[in-house]
Amino acid sequence: MSELPVRIRPEIAALPAYKQGKQAGSDAFKLSSNENPFDPLPGVVAAVQSATDIHRYPDASAALLRARLAERFGVIDDAVHIGAGSVSILFQLAQATSGPGDEVLFSWRSFEAYPGLAVVAGATAVTVPNTVDGGHDLDAMAGAITDRTRMIIVCTPNNPTGPIVTQAGFDAFIARVPHNILVVLDEAYTEFVTDPESVHGEQVLAAGHRNVVVLRTFSKAYGLAGLRVGYAVGDPGILSAARSTGIPLSVTAAAETAALASLDAEAELLARVAVIAERRDALAARLREAGWDVPVAQGNFVWLPAGARALEIGAAFEQAGLIVRPFAGDGVRISVGEAEALDAIVAVAASFAP
Ligand SMILES: *Cc1c(COP(=O)(O)O)cnc(C)c1O
Repeated sequence: MSELPVRIRPEIAALPAYKQGKQAGSDAFKLSSNENPFDPLPGVVAAVQSATDIHRYPDASAALLRARLAERFGVIDDAVHIGAGSVSILFQLAQATSGPGDEVLFSWRSFEAYPGLAVVAGATAVTVPNTVDGGHDLDAMAGAITDRTRMIIVCTPNNPTGPIVTQAGFDAFIARVPHNILVVLDEAYTEFVTDPESVHGEQVLAAGHRNVVVLRTFSKAYGLAGLRVGYAVGDPGILSAARSTGIPLSVTAAAETAALASLDAEAELLARVAVIAERRDALAARLREAGWDVPVAQGNFVWLPAGARALEIGAAFEQAGLIVRPFAGDGVRISVGEAEALDAIVAVAASFAP
């Protein structure tokens, strides 16, 4: 690399750029980013098209959407914060809580964005390995808390491996976390969860844990990944601090309008989510039959623990017109997308069964 023209913070210069799921050609299925294979929900495109005031700045706090979500959660408006994707709120929370010498703790492997957000804040990422079946080792995570821990991320269902954290597991964990450490419950895939034992942000908030912030997104089940809108629910003081670190006006009016229209299409949303969850269960079952030890899959994706063969298997999927997400040396994540892709997925996976 040629020398940089100005001084860059060394930890930033060393940071790999965020790696996005590969794009797919028109003849391939894009199963690399856990997107929704369905079109936007009914009414959403029309609502966005009728919002033509684009010469005006958006409402900075997305007040209408906040009020709508606050009503759903039974909280005050100030207990909801909207971001340009929930990833941006994760970065805000890291900035607000953690600086040099501080630690951000999470399970690994998990969401690709987590390591970078600690580094950008100037803090240190501390990781605890997943259990062998791809879940969070909450016991070990509680044991990894130090007096420098400022933020803990719990990802459920865990992206990319699939298992949930149970309500009982979360309750036992939170009882061991000092009250002055932020715990972020990242529930990006919560709509797809069918396990009745699963933790739910609503229940955690109702229990009065003021140090827990629940993160949700419109990108996955709601199918608005391209518009960038997500939200957090939690203590107004924490969310106000997050807001202070954010880039003002980054949630567009189009995104807010689309999110509101999506909330109006609840019945259609639930029907689509049920289709994806059934398709996921069927796919996981077929992959297990083919010899793969697929972990519990509660999101809109399945995980092949491919180990050293991950990249090779990812390339074979691509050859077959299936763009998936291989993680070198670890495994392959396959999003649950179009029904037409399922047979081909199983065929490629079966040819590599361990
Ligand atoms: C996709 C995802 C998000 C949300 O992304 P946004 O599009 O920024 O809302 C957050 N957390 C996890 C674990 C994800 O997989």
